[in-house]
Amino acid sequence: MQTAKTILYVEDNLDNRTLVRRLLQASGYNVLEAANAAEALDLLNTHRPDLILMDINMPDIDGYTLTRTIKTQEHLRSVPIVALTANVMRGDKERTLQAGCDGYIEKPIDVDRFTDQIAEFLTNGHPE
Ligand code: MN
Repeated sequence: MQTAKTILYVEDNLDNRTLVRRLLQASGYNVLEAANAAEALDLLNTHRPDLILMDINMPDIDGYTLTRTIKTQEHLRSVPIVALTANVMRGDKERTLQAGCDGYIEKPIDVDRFTDQIAEFLTNGHPE
């Protein structure tokens, strides 16, 4: 049997974290959570998740900046980072990719598709 994959979700909103945690755990994933960039970097000192879900709008350091910081770390560079954000203005998807994110899922998430989208990122790095 395959070892369960671990996903780190960086998100300041507790309700979003709770929903995503439940969906991921119901599909058999291990879930790590960080409420801000400092907590995320702290966790990444001791854990190497299989995938990182990244909120963009956060009160301390935004998800673009945190993604750039993570991608400068050699041992974390190959961990896929998927932006999870309500920023759907023109150019926002491009901004997440420029920051080093490997993909993008829009909020509000589609609860029926979400874990399939995650599985595709884990398999292919990209959803389509
Ligand atoms: Mn947020």
